[in-house]
Amino acid sequence: MATGSERARSSLSYLRRKITTGEWAVGSRIPIEPELVEQMGVGRSTVREAVRSLANMGMLETLPGRGTFVRSATPSSALLNEFLNAFTLEEILSYRRALEIEAAQQATIHRTEEDIQAMIVAAEEEKGCSLCPIATANSATNAFESKFHLLMFDAAKNRLLSALYAGINEQLRTPQHRGRLVNMASAQEMEKYHAKLIDAIQRQDFIDAVHVMAAHVDHDVVMVSEEQQIVPTLARSDEQQQRIDDLGIDD
Ligand SMILES: [Zn+2]
Repeated sequence: MATGSERARSSLSYLRRKITTGEWAVGSRIPIEPELVEQMGVGRSTVREAVRSLANMGMLETLPGRGTFVRSATPSSALLNEFLNAFTLEEILSYRRALEIEAAQQATIHRTEEDIQAMIVAAEEEKGCSLCPIATANSATNAFESKFHLLMFDAAKNRLLSALYAGINEQLRTPQHRGRLVNMASAQEMEKYHAKLIDAIQRQDFIDAVHVMAAHVDHDVVMVSEEQQIVPTLARSDEQQQRIDDLGIDD
């Protein structure tokens, strides 16, 4: 006979798996409570408790009179945000850089033709936008999010990378970082790098993809010090810049 807490735990993981596997898609309404009671073979209060836990994680939302909807395929942000709060902006940006580079590499391996098409459309839509991918220092909302970058993470087909990336971006948009981030790249530079990324990912050239992304994220979101000085992620010497130029990715 399972104890109450075992039933609660297995009910939670049952519902959670439905969501993370995509069986219940984001935006869809989940079965009503009596159906879940039936499917799961547990009591009404256990189902209710599991739904409430997932709602607290930001994965489900119950709308009175309308039902319960899937809001996110990953436990959001409340947990991750709290965790990330313990780190400095510099540490978070460095971590973001690692995620972007790994996602670019994985995308060259796992991308489908649909991924490529979606990235081409997003890059076109975001042309001329120099906010990519987080925000500018003076932005009131700090809320811009590049669809292009999110789609590249989709193409990487790694839910953990996508979830961590979403969490990092959300953290960077919190008020404590407002005014501390700036985009050093011009709209033309953004456009050029996105085009080069698409090209490398399409050709499945993971070496190019990694180098292009590394050069891109050195510029797209950088820190501003308390004295309003830009702190580049990696300041390049003339010789280092020459080596990047020689790779043919920075022209
Ligand atoms: Zn970008």
